Amino acid sequence: MSRTEPLPGPLEPRGRTIGAEERAAVLRVLDSASLCGSFGTEARALEAEMGELYGRTAVSCSSGTAALHLAVAAVDPDPGDEIVTTPISDFGTVAPILAQNAVPVFADVDPATGNLDPASVAAVITARTRAIMVVHLFGAPAPVAELRGLADRHGLALVEDCAQAWLGTVPSGEPVGRYGDVACFSLQQYKHITSGDGGLAITADPALARRMRLFMDKGWDRSIGRKHLMYGLNYRMTELAAAVARAQLGKVAGVVARRRERAARLLDALADLPGLGLPSPDGHAWWMFPFTVPDEPGNRAFAAALQAEGVPASAGYLERPLYANPALAEAPVYGSSRYPIDRDYPAGLCPNAERLIDRTLVTLPWNEAYTEADVDDIAAAVRKAHADVR
Ligand SMILES: *Cc1c(COP(=O)(O)O)cnc(C)c1O
Repeated sequence: MSRTEPLPGPLEPRGRTIGAEERAAVLRVLDSASLCGSFGTEARALEAEMGELYGRTAVSCSSGTAALHLAVAAVDPDPGDEIVTTPISDFGTVAPILAQNAVPVFADVDPATGNLDPASVAAVITARTRAIMVVHLFGAPAPVAELRGLADRHGLALVEDCAQAWLGTVPSGEPVGRYGDVACFSLQQYKHITSGDGGLAITADPALARRMRLFMDKGWDRSIGRKHLMYGLNYRMTELAAAVARAQLGKVAGVVARRRERAARLLDALADLPGLGLPSPDGHAWWMFPFTVPDEPGNRAFAAALQAEGVPASAGYLERPLYANPALAEAPVYGSSRYPIDRDYPAGLCPNAERLIDRTLVTLPWNEAYTEADVDDIAAAVRKAHADVR
């Protein structure tokens, strides 16, 4: 039984939680005629509300990538210093490392979850390492307690990329985003909640908060005149985006709760299928629903079988690990120079990541608007693919 009606997705009203609150928010800002975050009240109010939610100081900015750039700029590596990160993420995780003239170093991942493996991170730490940048992939909590310990033992900063993990927690219940010196969130169209684009960085450290706030606004402390205290960019969030983000932030708990309910139903429906590696629901924020299949015939055949049933599925999430993209593998970074990249990233660098992308990982888009019947259709399609693809 294949689906004829497409599942709700993030590019249409039924797959987003944009409603009366967001409409009122936009009109409120337009009526104020104050659209820039430096002069209105919405961006500061969003920061206060995000700060309250996580018990941290929050800095708003124009995207998740910008938030990660604030984090790297605040951590302040020297040119040529190394930042250890994961090969399975959005390119926005790694671009800010290059932008601050630091070298991205890739550690391998857990073959079940795709999240950074602390032992692999430990193995690539050198005297030049300044920070670890960890991603909670698909919303599953990465081993942040272990990585926090590792960072502390080596005197490194820890940055959490929570773009896919709004309200995720570690299995014990502590929120992800509270282990890193800085944690970064995205409000891009495809995330749990959205303002079209937008980002938030949170920290408990006043010095890091200050550097991030300065970097977000041209290094400018507006309380002391027209004086630029450090190099910075214009990464300000607009009042329009901030007002929408405030309305969306009020809905994020419901979004995550509904995603969790539906994911539990799918986990239940698939639990008896041999060879399928299902994610642990502990603390999962379910940006996507990932699972693994046997290497043979592999994820491409499996995803194709799901697509034939009308269930959108991706084989491997990425086409290649981050380090195999031309931008890192071969292209110049600045002018004709590859600086800060000082090494090759050969095939086989992170075998677990490569196997997930090439052979074993399947991801299903996940959405708070999925009904129980939608989940039952998805389960039926996965069971059919499981029976047919061999
Ligand atoms: C989306 C995403 C980013 C980048 O966020 P943008 O808002 O698109 O710049 C970074 N990291 C991860 C893990 C993401 O999913």
